[in-house]
Amino acid sequence: MIYDAAVLGAGIAGSAAAKALASRGWSAVLLDRQRFPRHKVCGEFLSPESLETLARLGLLEPVQSLSPSRITQTSLFLENGGVIRIPLPDAALGVSRYSLDSAFHREASAAGASIREGAVVLSVERLDGHYELIVRCGGETEVLRARAVIAAWGGAGLTGILPDGRERSSERRMEGPARNSRGQSARHSAQAPGLVGVKMHYLSADSAALASGGDSVELYFFRGGYAGINGVEDGKVNIAALLERGDIPLNHRSVPAMLEEAARRHPALRERMAALSPLPDSAAAVSPVRISMRPAAWSGIPLIGDAICRIPPLCGDGMSMALRSAELCSAYADGYLRGEFSLSEWEREYKAAIAREFSRPLRWGRFAESLLSSALLSRALPALARLAPRAARGMIQSTRLRIR
Ligand SMILES: Cc1cc2nc3c(=O)[nH]c(=O)nc-3n(C[C@H](O)[C@H](O)[C@H](O)COP(=O)(O)OP(=O)(O)OC[C@H]3O[C@@H](n4cnc5c(N)ncnc54)[C@H](O)[C@@H]3O)c2cc1C
Repeated sequence: MIYDAAVLGAGIAGSAAAKALASRGWSAVLLDRQRFPRHKVCGEFLSPESLETLARLGLLEPVQSLSPSRITQTSLFLENGGVIRIPLPDAALGVSRYSLDSAFHREASAAGASIREGAVVLSVERLDGHYELIVRCGGETEVLRARAVIAAWGGAGLTGILPDGRERSSERRMEGPARNSRGQSARHSAQAPGLVGVKMHYLSADSAALASGGDSVELYFFRGGYAGINGVEDGKVNIAALLERGDIPLNHRSVPAMLEEAARRHPALRERMAALSPLPDSAAAVSPVRISMRPAAWSGIPLIGDAICRIPPLCGDGMSMALRSAELCSAYADGYLRGEFSLSEWEREYKAAIAREFSRPLRWGRFAESLLSSALLSRALPALARLAPRAARGMIQSTRLRIR
């Protein structure tokens, strides 16, 4: 059988795209190397902007049915003790990726998509008018065919073990990204290889702390990283942090130990975490986390979500960008499958749309991250934010996707 579309990676972006394509009547297969539900490193903050895209994709109701927390304000806790509180333009939602990704799978499946978990995509090759995928599932290798493919494999690219035992990397194989004189990929920032992302859920021992976790996303900046806290469903609190790996003592490299290390560096975070009890089964880590310099929406095949670019996590807009790219790309895939335009037209139009929408938040996100992470520069920020609250709100908004 030849599927109309194969979507490679079943995170936020992939499942939204598979649902959109299946809802348009196409036979779609959604593949992921992992099994679900699973915990995933993420701040689990769905920005107000992402809710509009969720609504258009028919995914807002399933999210609401998970009883997410409602978040109305951002609180920035700077290294020098300063605090900046900025109201969000509209309410955001807090919901775990454990629940969210599985809810999206249910929606994709209900729309008619086939979901294959534990299926590692090893390679993608374009043949005469269709694609051939080599997929390893449960120790067996099989070939899948599809008229169109969309890569939603997240920030690590197509990784997997080739039949001959070598490791596969999509970036190397598909296009070969531009490299700078030090051999670093020009798509990613120079300090990137040293970053590790961690997350864990907590229960609140005191109801006041739980209530505050329910309506504020708190960001704590400290030497070598930052941490975000917000409420998710069922009264739980999620803590996610991005840390420089080289900074962490070797005996502190479990997720709970890394989060304690973060708390040691910020008194307000330490105080906040003292009121919370960890749920170690929810721990997850990812490394390296590479922040992108610019979006790249095509690498031999169309890319969506983090496969295009990673915005600094403090912007809390990665999922919004994943959803928006899934929405855009599935509309182009629909036109391509109908024969309304060619593959090269899809590539040209889609790349231009992504560059138009994603370049600005990416640029501002990197700027905001460097400003807030600098002990020296951040010293003046609380006073400036009090003097010019609209400018502070404007800066946060600039890191967010604006859909025209
Ligand atoms: C510390 C941290 C905090 C963050 N906080 C937030 C936040 O609060 N709000 C927000 O909006 N964003 C946040 N983000 C960003 C957000 O998590 C991502 O933007 C989002 O997960 C991207 O979704 P995706 O579907 O593109 O990729 P993913 O969710 O990473 O999904 C990719 C999927 O592809 C699968 N895959 C990979 N390779 C293969 C293969 N070869 N074969 C088969 N399957 C494969 C993987 O198993 C995975 O399930 C944060 C990120 C970090 C690191």
